[in-house]
Amino acid sequence: MTSSSVRLSAVTKSFNGTDVIKGVSLDVKKGELVVFVGPSGCGKSTLLRLIAGLETPTSGEIVIADKDVTYAHPSKRGVAMVFQSYALYPHMTVEDNIAFALKIQGRPKAEIRAKVHEVAEILQLDHLLQRRPKALSGGQRQRVAIGRAIVREPDVFLFDEPLSNLDASLRGQMRVEIARLHRKLGATSVYVTHDQVEAMTLADKIVVLRAGLVEQVGSPMTLYRHPANLFVAGFIGSPR
Ligand code: ADP
Ligand code: MG
Repeated sequence: MTSSSVRLSAVTKSFNGTDVIKGVSLDVKKGELVVFVGPSGCGKSTLLRLIAGLETPTSGEIVIADKDVTYAHPSKRGVAMVFQSYALYPHMTVEDNIAFALKIQGRPKAEIRAKVHEVAEILQLDHLLQRRPKALSGGQRQRVAIGRAIVREPDVFLFDEPLSNLDASLRGQMRVEIARLHRKLGATSVYVTHDQVEAMTLADKIVVLRAGLVEQVGSPMTLYRHPANLFVAGFIGSPR
């Protein structure tokens, strides 16, 4: 066993002959919260989808928890993804939305019930279990989406701009909550955002992407104090 949870080696991805990811190598250690940051269109979502198995690399290798998963099915990777759009089932209650993955796995009813209630308590959703998504606020919906990921007990959580549909004050509050959850669960997380403040406040380690390439990797403080170039300096927002 290594302490590495996700490892990308020289990963490339092209769509119809256009290179979108141009050779990315990086390491996410167990327990780390790593943030991918960069302007719109730089390849953040594609990189996350490659880790999730929703896309297959054109070349390179992806290892999760010491297993080569480059071509593995998404369900066999030990990852759970939280999307910007929440992707909840509108006709199901909160309880059924959270329970869904466990039902598919055929877990015993009592176990599912206990697990869902445990997760609902962590996320302060216990009083909302019988509601349907349309009767929830944006922040509550996002919590349900996170709950659906947590019940699966993944090795790695993948977040794709989970807060971008929320208003500014709620975004700040959810940011704190996600950070708290990440520590509480001892989780490994990869978090995509185009928001510098989110990156600076959440990350153990920031990966700055630009046009399918890694510009710099470092702690928020390192990037702030020692940006590798003007692009990073401009993006992280420190004068140089
Ligand atoms: P980001 O999440 O950083 O905004 P994306 O990863 O969504 O960027 O997209 C990176 C580039 O790849 C964009 O130019 C986008 O148009 C292109 N792209 C993403 N997915 C596809 C796809 N399925 N087919 C063709 N082009 C795609
Ligand atoms: Mg994106």
